[in-house]
Amino acid sequence: METIRLEPVDAITVTTLVDNVTDSLLADEGPATRPSMTALPRVAARFFAGGDTDDALRAEHGFAALVTIVNGERQTRVLFDAGRTPDGLVENMRRLDLRPADIDIIVLSHGHWDHVTGMEGLVGSLGRASVPVLIHPAFWTRRRLAFPGRDAVELPTTSKRALEGAGFQIVEQRHPSFLLDGSLLVTGEVDRTTAFERGFPGHEAHVHGAWQPDPLILDDQALVAIVRGRGLVVLTGCGHSGIVNIVRYVQKLTESSESMPSSGASTSAGRRSSRSSAPRVTRSPRSARTFSFRRTARGGARRTRLRRGSPRRSSRTASGRASRSSPTADATRRAARRHPARVREWITCQRP
Ligand SMILES: [Zn+2]
Repeated sequence: METIRLEPVDAITVTTLVDNVTDSLLADEGPATRPSMTALPRVAARFFAGGDTDDALRAEHGFAALVTIVNGERQTRVLFDAGRTPDGLVENMRRLDLRPADIDIIVLSHGHWDHVTGMEGLVGSLGRASVPVLIHPAFWTRRRLAFPGRDAVELPTTSKRALEGAGFQIVEQRHPSFLLDGSLLVTGEVDRTTAFERGFPGHEAHVHGAWQPDPLILDDQALVAIVRGRGLVVLTGCGHSGIVNIVRYVQKLTESSESMPSSGASTSAGRRSSRSSAPRVTRSPRSARTFSFRRTARGGARRTRLRRGSPRRSSRTASGRASRSSPTADATRRAARRHPARVREWITCQRP
């Protein structure tokens, strides 16, 4: 396999928008900052003497994160997954003072509904959504959960026609893809090389007219970048491929031996795994030691910023608002919206 040269970036901020857990009492930790209760918007609550309370972030089964990549004057916002409910993503974005209109590119880690449903809320907020969406071709597969002793439950399957009809520009890639002039990598299908990461027992796919075991969920992919002087950053969704498989694959693709700060999503993927996958999860950290993981944060909504030569703490303002784009980045984004073809140019897919 040909090695991919990934161009380093100056900084990455990962803002968790949807996760299984949110905890308003957690303090800032390492490079991660949490939204303060006093910084969140207020919502009317007539049973309180003051008549209102903080409009708390909502947790839901699923995942979504906003990845802001800074390189020189350029700032790009990538939505990675969209959560499980139609309005959970956009509602939490509103609470965090983030605008759906600022999303430049969407990458969906895999086809499970708890990573896709929030696309509906985005369209409700954006009107017509002329945003590129990167997925693996197996994203559209019909799936169900068939656990022993329980009735099988079919999972909602995304409609390609509906997504395209809403304006999304679908890009299907089985192989690794570059974004942003070669500085952001979408892994595509991950090689499964460990003996203990055997996938999701009881997970089935409807293929050639019949339900068949589908433990591997081959459409599962991760987002990867290198922060100059800090090393690789890997962001996963469910991480069905297995976090050790993913990291091994990324190292093989990039031939990177640098230390690897792990996103919270990588670790929460372990927490979110089904009971039947527990042995896999408990063995993974032992293998992961060889990768020099650094867990950046865990639990709840958070913003994690890694930047070259900067203090580890986020530069987020005291109000809890994200720092705004530079005028140049805004102009670039506006121009890209006027000329969708130019957005497509950012998605230069390269097959190793
Ligand atoms: Zn999943």
